[in-house]
Amino acid sequence: MITSAVRTLVTELTGDDLPAYVYDLPALRAHARAVRDALPPGLELYYAAKANPAPPVLRTLAPHVTGYEVASGGEVEHVRAAVPGAPLAFGGPGKTEGELRRALTLGVERFHVESEQELRLLAGVAEDAGIDAVDVLLRVNVPLASDELGGAALAMGGRPSPFGLDPEAVQRCLPLLSGAGSRGPLRLRGIHAHLASGLDAPAQLTVAAAIADWARKLSERHGLDDLTEVNVGGGMGVDYAHPDRRFDWAAYGKGMADLALRHPGRTLRIEPGRALTVYCGWYVTEVLDIKHSGGEAFAVLRGGTHHIRTPATKQHDQPFQVLPMDTTATWTRPWARPAVREEPVTLVGQLCTPKDVLARRVQVPELRAGDRVAFAMAGAYAWNISHHDFLMHPRPGFHYLDT
Ligand SMILES: *Cc1c(COP(=O)(O)O)cnc(C)c1O
Repeated sequence: MITSAVRTLVTELTGDDLPAYVYDLPALRAHARAVRDALPPGLELYYAAKANPAPPVLRTLAPHVTGYEVASGGEVEHVRAAVPGAPLAFGGPGKTEGELRRALTLGVERFHVESEQELRLLAGVAEDAGIDAVDVLLRVNVPLASDELGGAALAMGGRPSPFGLDPEAVQRCLPLLSGAGSRGPLRLRGIHAHLASGLDAPAQLTVAAAIADWARKLSERHGLDDLTEVNVGGGMGVDYAHPDRRFDWAAYGKGMADLALRHPGRTLRIEPGRALTVYCGWYVTEVLDIKHSGGEAFAVLRGGTHHIRTPATKQHDQPFQVLPMDTTATWTRPWARPAVREEPVTLVGQLCTPKDVLARRVQVPELRAGDRVAFAMAGAYAWNISHHDFLMHPRPGFHYLDT
């Protein structure tokens, strides 16, 4: 599970160097290349930067992606600086006028518009700036039959939602868009949808087909010849309980190639985040203490959910591997080393809250104070979604391995 480069670094770090985030950039590169190779050549792959916006991660992905999906003014600035020249698609709810102005100044290539008011704001800002062509995709809550989303973990559309536009609202937006009557600066280039996350390949293909069909009908009904782009979103499934069961990119690529054949003249685009970067990162730390309470074993780790909030938000056990530390330097105390053997143990952090749990009642052959624990699947929605300042513990180290 853990790559040898990560293991070597981790055993060289001292206790005070921990916790640490370790990213295996060659592993990320290989994964991104495999994903890209599985997709049909005409399909555009954008990376949703909010999953992990660390500059070395963004730069490692650059040769394998078409562009980046950004979801705030902060991400626009950050990604532009980290990977200059890469196309950006600016999505997300609640864009302010200031953010839109700055995004236009920075030449953001695509705007994913989430509401009628946002469309009006964008038109006004573009007019004020004297910009006469802004490429817009309308984010639509494309209706799906109730069984189409299957077991989606987090449904974003197909039901009442703060994101995107309902189909009726799309009708009201059309007069504001050129190609549909307006002579204003906004050009309707396509439809964007991000309806769910956690879908497997067959479910993703069903959703993609529904979005593409909906876009075709809209364009046919209104004679929208410039509506050539269909962004079907991200949300490719990631299975934390089975790190080896990865999203079936080969089947997905094949299905998307078929879908492209059914929609000649349209560019299909996807924007995964988690499924691209989750596997390349590890959160590594050491066991500070082992104790029993009410007959259950607890391992208290240096660090916790203020560094990796993922298991708390997703209510799962973060997968981990124990790296036993046997050198005498690890245990120099004149008392017995606290340990558990062949027993379920709950791994907790240093926070004074019962929510600071990284994995619950997981059976381990042995775990001792001073051993190291490497949490896998920490490359997405991990450090950057965590509440770092709670309790004022030191920040982890960051290591981007690239050899
Ligand atoms: C978060 C997000 C994504 C990426 O989702 P993943 O589950 O990380 O693949 C893509 N598009 C939009 C609009 C998003 O909000």
